[in-house]
Amino acid sequence: MIISTKHGTPQIEITKMVESFQSMGLRVSVITGTDYTVMGLVGDTTHLDEKRIRANPYVDKVQRVSEPYKLANRLFHQEDSIVSVRGIPVGGKEKLVVIGGPCSVEGKEQIINLAREVKEAGGHMLRGGAYKPRTSPYAFQGLGTEGILDMVEARRVTGLPIVSELMSADKIDEFEECVDLVQIGARNMQNFQLLKAVGRMTKPILLKRGLANTIEEWIMSAEYIMSAGNPNVIFCERGIRTFEKYTRNTLDLSVVPILKLKSHLPVIIDPSHATGDWRYVESMSLAAIAAGADGLIIEVHDHPESAWSDGAQSVRPDRFRTIIEKGRTIAQVIGRDM
Ligand code: PEP
Ligand code: MN
Repeated sequence: MIISTKHGTPQIEITKMVESFQSMGLRVSVITGTDYTVMGLVGDTTHLDEKRIRANPYVDKVQRVSEPYKLANRLFHQEDSIVSVRGIPVGGKEKLVVIGGPCSVEGKEQIINLAREVKEAGGHMLRGGAYKPRTSPYAFQGLGTEGILDMVEARRVTGLPIVSELMSADKIDEFEECVDLVQIGARNMQNFQLLKAVGRMTKPILLKRGLANTIEEWIMSAEYIMSAGNPNVIFCERGIRTFEKYTRNTLDLSVVPILKLKSHLPVIIDPSHATGDWRYVESMSLAAIAAGADGLIIEVHDHPESAWSDGAQSVRPDRFRTIIEKGRTIAQVIGRDM
């Protein structure tokens, strides 16, 4: 971190600042100019609050040169992290994972049938929401515990690990017991209490990007989970809010190379919520693979026109199969498999 003081700052104030940083275990290099002084702080500055330093009336500028995150930072963890989801590795240089399933669990028969189709098409995990974050309080809110138990049954029948969204900490025990990959939805990406709570879980976390969050804010949310004790975090890009109206959100595929550079954690893409339209799911899936994503999470439904949520963006099982087949070819071109 680099701090420069205002013109005419008394030496005693500079000494006070230097001593306070040193007492935090940081080394301070001081460059004294004719008009102002520059301090370079060396060491772990993740705990420093720039705004608090800026509150000092003698401080002119504060500039971070290192990232505010440590555990999620590639700098301190050169190897790709591989997160195991009930034995299935996510991340690394080889295999990609494909997660498929409905937006919402609609009953035992529905989810078991879809689980079979997802598996036959080549999918590796089953998704299904039982607690749904809906914009309208009058919209279907999910089957709750019953939905989770239906997912458990679908796992028993097909062997596919199950992925579901946790919306509040009061359901943590249920998820710890039943769910293999715990999804934190876009709307909860900065629910810091929830992030700390899932940081104490033993299950891996699928952390979706917030509706309007920067990549750095997103990585800081992963840092929350990791600093509470859970190193198993997978990023999921699901599109962000922009001015564009032809898609539900704008898929930001640049996050793939950026996250790969900044962090060691795996990243997967959700082309369903990103586009909001099944017509665009295949092309965006293939693009995501080409961009280097570690996997896909796709909404799949047998009868999208009567789905209880997100039918317009759900693909039928045959298209899901096509995406996997074409995706495998693209994956092989870039030296991976699916
Ligand atoms: C979902 O996965 O069904 C969902 C609600 O996703 P998001 O949080 O990305 O909107
Ligand atoms: Mn959905």
